[in-house]
Amino acid sequence: MKTLQWTLTIIKPDAVRKHGIGDIIEQFEKNGFRILCMKMLEISKHQAEQFYAVHAGKAFFNSLTDFMSSGPIVVLALEKENAIADLRKLMGATNPANAEEGTIRKKWATSIELNAIHGSDAEDSARFELSYFFAGYELAQ
Ligand code: ATP
Ligand code: MG
Repeated sequence: MKTLQWTLTIIKPDAVRKHGIGDIIEQFEKNGFRILCMKMLEISKHQAEQFYAVHAGKAFFNSLTDFMSSGPIVVLALEKENAIADLRKLMGATNPANAEEGTIRKKWATSIELNAIHGSDAEDSARFELSYFFAGYELAQ
């Protein structure tokens, strides 16, 4: 059975600095994602630590949260059938060296850390991440 799903994506500071916003949003629309809600903002180091709390304690946590708070980001709530898995496919592998041709990370990522885009990886993380950046009334249809 096909069911509509919501996912949270972030155009990361490296892709914003490289003027990738327009191209990446075009990829979402061309690939069947509906934009429910979108905003551009900067997050603090503390907010980046909260958002990426699942990675606390990992070797890259300090550097990742410095990076994510280093400049403007664009966050979007996206809707599609199978949105979570389909967005992860469109993003490409975490390490752009392994990302397939045609993926967003293949085109825009610089390194395993500066990798252009975030996407929720499961239904529970999507719920947490959507509610981290958007209030209920902003997602109400
Ligand atoms: P994201 O959660 O941002 O969508 P992902 O799910 O592909 O990416 P995760 O394993 O959740 O990858 O890692 C979160 C982020 O941490 C990565 O996107 C990347 O920016 C950074 N990261 C992951 N692994 C490394 C690493 N080995 N060295 C440096 N940074 C890393
Ligand atoms: Mg992840």
